Amino acid sequence: MSAAKKLPVLFGFLGSDTVADPVGAIADVVVIGVPFDLATTGRAGARGGPDAIRLASGHLSWQRNYWPWRFALADRLRVVDAGNLAFRTASPADMVAALQAGVRDVISSGKRLLTLGGDHFISLPILREHAAKYGPISLVHFDAHADTEDLEGEFNHGSMFLDAQREGLIDPARSVQIGIRTEYDFIGYPITVLDAVWVHERGPKAVVAEVARIVGDAPAYLTFDIDCLDPSFAPGTGTPHPGGLSTQQALQILRRLVDLNVVGMDVVEVAPAYDHAEMTALAAASIGSEMLHVFAAKRSDLDAIGFSPAC
Ligand code: MN
Ligand code: MN
Repeated sequence: MSAAKKLPVLFGFLGSDTVADPVGAIADVVVIGVPFDLATTGRAGARGGPDAIRLASGHLSWQRNYWPWRFALADRLRVVDAGNLAFRTASPADMVAALQAGVRDVISSGKRLLTLGGDHFISLPILREHAAKYGPISLVHFDAHADTEDLEGEFNHGSMFLDAQREGLIDPARSVQIGIRTEYDFIGYPITVLDAVWVHERGPKAVVAEVARIVGDAPAYLTFDIDCLDPSFAPGTGTPHPGGLSTQQALQILRRLVDLNVVGMDVVEVAPAYDHAEMTALAAASIGSEMLHVFAAKRSDLDAIGFSPAC
């Protein structure tokens, strides 16, 4: 499909093994990078995100039991890293085709995906394949932006969640957007928005209770745009916006989502050229780690560390 040469990856995410054939690999979760940023509207550079996140994850991976969990991820979840998606660098259409084919192959082999972006547009082709397998998905979306601008299907990282609704990929009534603090078409808006002020005033436990109420046991896709975090925690991104979540707030929300039926997840929009001291890439690596733990953890694991979801 693509004549592009696959980029070499030297560091598997969180020290995971790198594999050339994610479909044939023995694994529960496959990590893949999508070095694509042609859909950005602000500063470009998210094509460098996947490798920056992997490299920063090396600061975390010395742990056996990642704090605060009291189990070892490796004992419960087999994670492999398939490197970066190959596609013709200047062709959004080729990226979409290659990504959908790759996602389809991996999830039809019974594995789940943690995708490292790349700009946020990559979530659309991923959602297409997940919806084909699971039906309309509950989107659990962390972002400064709603990404539902009406741009009639163009390659744009600010519009793909309206396109996802129009394509029937997500169920807006069972979806939620967290940390939003920019304009969106709020009149008659079909998705529940827990904006940044809501999160700051009520706190992570209230967010988790609301997410549980909205999503229930529906197949859920977690997507984390790193600009959900305040620029003081995540400056290395293309469209930063003040007033966002702290890294700690985000982790406290994510690790309490163990009751969700998570079928896939991504962390996007890390642009390392604007980062300082790897702080954005390290935040993204921590978020990716917490997502993997959400896959592996049970309610009893949360109870054991006193972080139960209940308010
Ligand atoms: Mn954003
Ligand atoms: Mn976004």
